[in-house]
Amino acid sequence: MIRFEKVSKKYRGTSKPALSDVEFDVQRGEFVFLVGASGSGKSSCLRLILREDTASDGRVVVLGRDVRGLSTRKVPYFRRHIGSVFQDFRLLPNKTVFQNVAFSLQVIGSSRAFIQQSVPEALALVGLAGKEKRLPHELSGGEQQRVAIARAIVNRPQILLADEPTGNLDPGTSIDIMQLLARINAGGTTVVMATHEAGFVDQMQRRVIELRGGVVVRDERHGGYGDTSGLPVLTPETVKGAAATAALTAVLELQKQIATGDAGGVEPLPDPIEPPAPQPETVLPAVPVVQDPPPVTEVQTDAAARAAASEPDTGTRGIPITPADIDLGDIDGLGAADRLGLGHRDDDEVGPTA
Ligand code: ADP
Ligand code: MG
Repeated sequence: MIRFEKVSKKYRGTSKPALSDVEFDVQRGEFVFLVGASGSGKSSCLRLILREDTASDGRVVVLGRDVRGLSTRKVPYFRRHIGSVFQDFRLLPNKTVFQNVAFSLQVIGSSRAFIQQSVPEALALVGLAGKEKRLPHELSGGEQQRVAIARAIVNRPQILLADEPTGNLDPGTSIDIMQLLARINAGGTTVVMATHEAGFVDQMQRRVIELRGGVVVRDERHGGYGDTSGLPVLTPETVKGAAATAALTAVLELQKQIATGDAGGVEPLPDPIEPPAPQPETVLPAVPVVQDPPPVTEVQTDAAARAAASEPDTGTRGIPITPADIDLGDIDGLGAADRLGLGHRDDDEVGPTA
């Protein structure tokens, strides 16, 4: 689905390449963390996937296409298959929630009827039903990121790229966003998330590709962040720590939910307007059942212990975290919808991410 073949990237005016001989292959349905310190090349990788930039050397193959071969005219159509979200949300400040999400359909020429149906579906999926008329500044940071995610997935892309999507959010809110991305992934969307937030990466037990100075130093199926000594820690002594505790507890719950296939009572994504094209069965990556907290760093052990001892079921705002809050949705329904793709109109010059 996404393949990097000996990819190097050297920006003009710089002496050291941002990426050197980067190789990896992401399969359909995978959830991959791209980790590494600031400046290690995470965003560069995502920009190459989105064809916002091209490799200096090597090949980037996305959805079966060598992206270098895409003409400028074809790029917007190509990008319809890829949703993207960023640390800074990038919402249109003077447009309502509904308009922000509708915008990405309007620029690709979707019909009014399609927009009227799809936007509420996407907003319901991200948990923002009822907030359609709000302006971005009337929302919390987490809600703004949900709008950005709704906008990214409203046209049912096959790939969702997330560049530090939780970078501006507190730990409790970050975990909500992580859960949402996991749900979207459970529906069949391939997710690549760049982050340096060790706690989530370690707890999610998903594939981890680590970059250091533009070089892939690690690619593990169910990895953790690795050496976390240089990273800011989630301190349990503070209020923020309590949020982190709740967050990590919630991640463990989420893993159990995924592992046991307990989809809970979330409302399924409504049937797509067009019937999905026949697709081969997507095999989602296996997620191990977590019986006990997995081997974790000192901080996480502390957090897990606190979670067990004191406030195991309380979220950041004192809201109990119950399995129902960690729903995975109707996996089959989501999968069919997510695999729909776009391209019902190919007469537009502007893509949703342009
Ligand atoms: P990360 O997302 O992991 O922080 P980036 O991909 O943004 O890393 O950056 C990797 C390296 O490339 C850094 O050294 C950065 O300074 C450099 N870089 C990124 N974008 C540009 C650019 N447009 N021009 C010059 N150098 C860049
Ligand atoms: Mg970056």
